[in-house]
Amino acid sequence: MEPARRIQKLSSAVFSEMDDLGRELREKGVDIINLSVGSPDLPPAPHIRQALVKALDEPGIYRYALTEGLPEFKRAVADWYGRRFGVDLDPKSEILSLIGSQDGLAHLYLALVNPGDPVLVPDPGYPIYSAGALLAEGEIHWLPLLAENGFLPELRAVPADVARRAKVMLLNYPNNPVAAVAGLDFFQAVVEFAREYRVVVVHDIAYSELAYDGYRPPSFLQAPGAREVGVELHSVSKSYNLAGCRLGFMVGNAAVLDALRVVKSNIDFGVFLAVQKAGIAALTGPQDTVREAAAVYQRRRDILVRGLGEAGWEVPSPKASMFIWAPLPRGHRSSREFVRELALRTGVVLVPGVAFGARGEGYVRIALVGADERLEEAVHRIRDSGLCSRSE
Ligand SMILES: *Cc1c(COP(=O)(O)O)cnc(C)c1O
Repeated sequence: MEPARRIQKLSSAVFSEMDDLGRELREKGVDIINLSVGSPDLPPAPHIRQALVKALDEPGIYRYALTEGLPEFKRAVADWYGRRFGVDLDPKSEILSLIGSQDGLAHLYLALVNPGDPVLVPDPGYPIYSAGALLAEGEIHWLPLLAENGFLPELRAVPADVARRAKVMLLNYPNNPVAAVAGLDFFQAVVEFAREYRVVVVHDIAYSELAYDGYRPPSFLQAPGAREVGVELHSVSKSYNLAGCRLGFMVGNAAVLDALRVVKSNIDFGVFLAVQKAGIAALTGPQDTVREAAAVYQRRRDILVRGLGEAGWEVPSPKASMFIWAPLPRGHRSSREFVRELALRTGVVLVPGVAFGARGEGYVRIALVGADERLEEAVHRIRDSGLCSRSE
């Protein structure tokens, strides 16, 4: 059996290297502190779990949900967007439920991109942005995210002929992996660019609720004109600790939603109704657990930023997201080699920046996961390893 060429393009050497490294460490019996995976490790709030459990006993709950899903869920999304961002959405035409935002990110290209069409994808970027483009046989044009630009893409650096032919531009703030944030002025510039070149903007806002020190990330749809040019994808995975439930939503431009709806109605039968009910409870219920969760991540951030700084490794303190995007300590050049050396000496596992794209080289991603004591332990081991105090 010979798999299709598009499968071969998808496999990431770095991630299989990471799997091998994990296996090697386990075989050696190393006590691993895994800061590589960005999967929320806090439980969902009790009222959300209760809504899910209660729904399991309701008549008809095990039917196919179908693409449209529960109108009450869309109503809950509309109300939440109104309260959180001051953005008014029509639940019928401007909200589509998703099997996690990953579902929308993976399938939207199929709805918008013909083989060979350029798509604008950030580098470094969350892997599905490029994987989805490859599956749709789009032609990736990278948008470099560089520290000197605050990790915002330089829109005017996109060659005009590429911009003119491009169908889609992917953006993600607060960002995974670079942990940068964007303001409304940037989103306004994006709207102007998208209007000029007729590009559909796809903004992934999975981390809008994991923000620190009182910062509140804006929605792309708050920029005037945004809904004429784009959509925003949201998730309950990170905000409400429901990652395994697979529930997200896409909001904004009705024509873009219609196109995705056609693809999805052929592929899936919607989100389990009980999960949609849990989503309603999450979006309409008390939000104090969201703030509490953000406080937990903020404390973890501070443990790592302070501790690593004391160990001789200065890392930036992110305003939002569940990651630290750290330049390699002095004396190290290859993110893969550094991650490997660090893991073998300390058991602390990070992701090499290059796993997220060529411009991720020179960085590692540190996920803010695990108990405070484990993070303290990680910091001590890293300090004692001497890996961060080499001179050039
Ligand atoms: C985790 C994550 C997602 C996936 O979210 P789901 O709703 O669980 O599919 C999407 N985008 C980014 C940037 C993420 O980090």
